[in-house]
Amino acid sequence: MKAAILKKQEKIENSPLKVGEVEIPQPGNGKALIKIEASGVCHSDLHIIEGDLPLPESMFPLIPGHEIVGTLEEPYGDFQKGDRVGIGWFASACGHCDQCVSGHENLCSNSKVTGMDVKGGYAQYTLVDGEYMTRIPDNIGSAEAAPLFCAGLTAFTAVKKLNFSPGERIAVYGVGGLGYYAIQFIEKMGGKAVAITGNHAQLAESVGASEVLDRPDGKYDGSIIFAPSSSIVPVAAEHTRNGGTVVIPAIMDKVEIPFGSFAWEKNITSVASGFRPHTRELLNFVSINGISSKITKKPLSEVNSVLKDLKNGKVNGRVVLTP
Ligand SMILES: [Zn+2]
Ligand SMILES: [Zn+2]
Repeated sequence: MKAAILKKQEKIENSPLKVGEVEIPQPGNGKALIKIEASGVCHSDLHIIEGDLPLPESMFPLIPGHEIVGTLEEPYGDFQKGDRVGIGWFASACGHCDQCVSGHENLCSNSKVTGMDVKGGYAQYTLVDGEYMTRIPDNIGSAEAAPLFCAGLTAFTAVKKLNFSPGERIAVYGVGGLGYYAIQFIEKMGGKAVAITGNHAQLAESVGASEVLDRPDGKYDGSIIFAPSSSIVPVAAEHTRNGGTVVIPAIMDKVEIPFGSFAWEKNITSVASGFRPHTRELLNFVSINGISSKITKKPLSEVNSVLKDLKNGKVNGRVVLTP
């Protein structure tokens, strides 16, 4: 099979991924073989490839990619050959730590990551832990489904954390590959999404934001920060009502917040993607509510240039590789 292989971590400008032939992995022992139809390209892949996340030599050669959708090559449990399934960032959890047994497997410290600990989706086939794959509803195309497994799931988990009531106004800071999903989720759940964006006002409007602003104005019932800029945190906290929540799915180095901006029992929290129950709920939600995914399809052979474009901010929505 064809696969994009990373031998060592290197800047994307050097085109470190080599597309070549490798053996198709064999299913069995709890592993299911997926013939890949679509594989989303996520910013985290770039961090893995370039070494922002240093990895031991023993993990190479590595095949990145953690937004995978395809068809099963062999039956697995209740799944039949040919069923469409997907897998995301979390490949598996340990199943026995306190977090796992209390139903919070996305907080397991011993979880395995797809495209890092196990071979990922930049290939024609991949092997997954069969217990962790999720069925794709018939009315969601494979390329549209792929980005739901990381971008969509993280946005969905962030929105769910706000626990808002219908009619409440939620500020969404940053309307990129995750923010435009969050706007749709908020609106379909009965909330009012207030998009706060410098350069993606049109995208925010096109997916149905109730309001589009270039800076926050007044207080909101909750806030989500997708823009990876720590200076937004105190601003968002200031503009959140007393007792409200600020969710930060973006990754940041250091956050400094004056106490006064989050006094009056405001909550500030992060998001650790989502796991099986969240994934099933998300896919059902998307299937029922017709959430749109903005995707561009590219062949696997163009993987290095796709990642370069992503690094240089030239990607709108999500690029999905079709091997
Ligand atoms: Zn991702
Ligand atoms: Zn665990």
